[in-house]
Amino acid sequence: MRDVVIIGSGCAGLTAAIYAARANLKPLVIEGVETGGQLSLTTLVENFPGFPEGIQGPELIEHMKKQAARFGAEFQAGDVAAADLSKRPFTLTVEGKAEQTRILIIASGASARWLGLEGERSLIGKGVSSCATCDGAFFREQRVAVVGGGDTAMEEAMFLTRFASQVDVIHRRDQFRASKIMVDRAHQNEKIHFVMNTVVEEIQDPSRGEVTGVKLRNVQTKEITQEAVSAVFVAIGHVPNTSLFRGQLDMDADGYLITRQGAGTKVPGVFACGDVQDRVFRQAVTAAGSGCMAAMEAERFLESEAHSAQ
Ligand code: NDP
Repeated sequence: MRDVVIIGSGCAGLTAAIYAARANLKPLVIEGVETGGQLSLTTLVENFPGFPEGIQGPELIEHMKKQAARFGAEFQAGDVAAADLSKRPFTLTVEGKAEQTRILIIASGASARWLGLEGERSLIGKGVSSCATCDGAFFREQRVAVVGGGDTAMEEAMFLTRFASQVDVIHRRDQFRASKIMVDRAHQNEKIHFVMNTVVEEIQDPSRGEVTGVKLRNVQTKEITQEAVSAVFVAIGHVPNTSLFRGQLDMDADGYLITRQGAGTKVPGVFACGDVQDRVFRQAVTAAGSGCMAAMEAERFLESEAHSAQ
């Protein structure tokens, strides 16, 4: 049986692993399908303290992983298929195997949200993507679209201008959610064109197994237009990865876990940190901070149990 199992290997999970490992709790990190979390899908991180010139997201994650491993954290590839939090030790099913743990730290993060259009899923990897860093280079000298009006959409659009001949940012409103500095940078880039008050009605062409264009609808004028693009990068936010815990832990209406008194959940011994419980800040540094809190609370929890057992 384990003292501490951490679900998720992003910024929150790895910080929890560093702290738990340094507390000699030999944590097991179950890495999940999106190893390294959202930072591993990003490029330059300019706002993580300690890196005045910025650092590449995947490199930052690699450093954190090495740091956790140095103090004795263990890593297991794969995803958790089931979690039974009804009694301690908690039981997780990972790759067909049962894993028992006294403490569970949930750092399973959030995954990209999709538009929900017919054929969208079938075109993922064939022109539909949620990750410009991963797929942008496939569309050299081609026209591509980015959907969304947040910082991610701006970041993806700017990254894509390295390769694409034109990047259309399609946003459903006339105001951006993105920060002013990001919008200003995007505006200054000649390759980026903004298509406001507009939604994507259709991504073509699932029957050909590739993206050939988009059908757009202006939500104010109702006008329908057709644009030829080779790729659609969907950047419309994320959904928390909490389906395993439905009915077992408290969540808000969108499925984000509700934590109280730091990282605690309603089940004693289960803690949550990072984007899975944070819909407001969602930053690498806040995820790291909450990972630290979860591990420290876990350590105190185990200590107080050991003390009361004496
Ligand atoms: P956000 O939730 O901030 O933005 C999502 C965008 O997608 C919004 O403009 C929203 O429109 C739009 N949208 C949502 N659903 C749909 C839909 N079904 N159809 C069409 N459009 C839709 O998510 P982000 O991923 O952009 O950012 C998440 C967090 O990460 C933010 O806190 C952001 O600041 C941060 N971030 C910071 C970066 C940096 O500092 N370098 C880089 C990237 C992200 P509407 O505005 O109308 O709701």
